[in-house]
Amino acid sequence: MSSAEYNPFTTAQQQLDEAAGKLGLDKGTREFLRWPQREFVVTLPVRMDDGKVKVFRGYRVQYNSARGPTKGGLRWHPDETIDTVRALAAWMTWKTAVVDIPLGGGKGGVTCNPKEMSQGEQERLARGYVRQVGRILGVTKDVPAPDVYTTPQIMAWMMDEFEAIQEESHPGVITGKPIPLGGSQGRGDATARGGMYTTREAAKKLGIELKGATGAVQGFGNAGQYAALLGEEILGLKIIAASDSRGGIINPAGMDAKALVKHKLETGTVQGFPNTEPISNEDLLELDCTVLFPSALENVIRSNNAGNVKADIICELANGPTTPEADEILAKNKRFVIPDFLANAGGVTVSYFEQVQNTYNYYWPLDLVHERLDEKMTKAFHDVYDMYMKEDVHPRLAAYMVAVRRVADAAKLRGWV
Ligand code: NAD
Repeated sequence: MSSAEYNPFTTAQQQLDEAAGKLGLDKGTREFLRWPQREFVVTLPVRMDDGKVKVFRGYRVQYNSARGPTKGGLRWHPDETIDTVRALAAWMTWKTAVVDIPLGGGKGGVTCNPKEMSQGEQERLARGYVRQVGRILGVTKDVPAPDVYTTPQIMAWMMDEFEAIQEESHPGVITGKPIPLGGSQGRGDATARGGMYTTREAAKKLGIELKGATGAVQGFGNAGQYAALLGEEILGLKIIAASDSRGGIINPAGMDAKALVKHKLETGTVQGFPNTEPISNEDLLELDCTVLFPSALENVIRSNNAGNVKADIICELANGPTTPEADEILAKNKRFVIPDFLANAGGVTVSYFEQVQNTYNYYWPLDLVHERLDEKMTKAFHDVYDMYMKEDVHPRLAAYMVAVRRVADAAKLRGWV
C-alpha cells in the first residue's frame, strides 16, 4: 500500500470519523467505533494434492456486536490482508445497521488463490479454517457467508465441519449454503437485486428514466453477472459494457445479458463476446452511461479518475470501490453514488432471512423473499435519502450517519460507551 488512499481500513476509519463528527458523537464512542472489538488470526497447514504441506494465513474480525451477533463474508484472495478484512468487517457493521437487521458486522478471509487449488485442496482449507475459527462462530456469536472467490460448496463444507465438531445440527452457523442444506431461495442474486431496488428508488428521486437507459458493469462475478441480468430485467437497462480481471468489452448498441453470462461461464471471461470491441477496466469506469455498477474490488474510483466518471448513478455493488477523495469529486460533479454498504446490502439481508428460516426450520417461497427484500432495501434507501436531503451531505456520509447513529445508540443502551 503506497499511500493512505489505498489502505481500505484507513478509508473505513476516515469515513467513520467524518460521520461521527457530523453526528457530534462523544470522544469515547468515536474511538470505540474506529476499531474492531475482536480479531482472530490463524495459521492453516493444508496437505496439497502433491503430498506437500502448504501454510495459509486466515483471519476473522468481529468488528462490532452492539446490535447483535456479528455477520459477514469470507474472502479467499491472494491480496487478502488483515486491513482489508478489518475494513470489510467495519462496512458489514454499517451495512447491517443501515438495513436495520438485528446483527453486527464481521468479516473473514484467507490469503490464497483458489483458482490454483483443486476441489480437494479447497475442501481441506475450508475444514481447517473451521477447526481453528469455529470456536468463535455460531448463530448467537458470528455467522460467515460467501464473498469473493468463496462459494456455496465451500459454505457447505464449513457447516459440515462445524456440525461434526459440535455433534449436532447448526444450519444457521453459516449462510449462502446450497438450498438442499438450508440455503434460502433468492440468495444467489440477492446482492445485485438489492442494488436494483435502490437504483430504482434513486432514479425516481432524481427524475431519471431507466427504461432503455445504459448500464456498465465492472467485475463480472456473482454480483456483476446478476447486475447485468437484473439491470435488464428489473430496470429495463441496456447493458453496453462489462469487464473482468482479464479486461472488458463494449457494444454501445447494448448486449444480451443472458448470452454474455453464458459466454463468461463457458469461457471464463467476457472477452471475445460477439459484436463487441475491447475496453480497458479504467476506460469502462469513465464511460458515458446512466448507471455504473462497480462490482469487482476496492479503490477503483480514486482522486485521479473520479473527475472523469460520467455515469449519473453509481451503484456500488463492490465493497469500497470509491476513495473518500473521489467521493468529494463525484458529489461536486453531481454524480449520485449509492454507497456500497447500502447498494450491496441485499446479500446480507437475504443471508439474515436464511438464518431466520434455519432457526424456525421452515422455508419461504422465492416471491416472499423478493417481497421482503424489496421492503427492506426500499426503506433503507429512503432513510438514507432523507438524511441526505436534511443534512445536505454526500450520499455515503448520509448512509454512515444513519448507520453509525444506530450502532452508537445500541452501544450506549448496553452501557458500553
Ligand atoms: P466474485 O469472485 O464472484 O467476482 C469478482 C469478479 O471481479 C470476477 O469476475 C473477477 O474477474 C473480477 N475482477 C477481479 N479483479 C478485477 C479487476 N482488477 N478489474 C475488473 N474485474 C476484476 O465476487 P463477488 O461475490 O461478485 O463480489 C464482488 C464484489 O461485490 C466484492 O467487492 C464483494 O465484497 C462485493 N459483494 C459481494 C456480495 C455477494 O453476495 N456476492 C455481497 C456484498 C458485496
